[in-house]
Amino acid sequence: MTDDLVKVKIDEEVCLGVGQCELLEPEVFEFDDGEGMSYVIGEGCLPRARAKIAVDRCPSSAISIRETA
Ligand code: SF4
Repeated sequence: MTDDLVKVKIDEEVCLGVGQCELLEPEVFEFDDGEGMSYVIGEGCLPRARAKIAVDRCPSSAISIRETA
């Protein structure tokens, strides 16, 4: 099943601040210009299929799926 909800997280050590994640899922990722990196908003819940796309699109592999919500 690909539509179950999962949580995503960003590894702050490896985020390059490209902002691709915010473009993809603006309700879950927020790019911080000052810090030059992105953060997860709130619980960071996404349907699994969309979370996997965010993971795949992150150029530094900083996004991971944390757990089933
Ligand atoms: S796409 Fe990846 S590297 Fe780019 S801001 Fe988001 S977490 Fe960071």
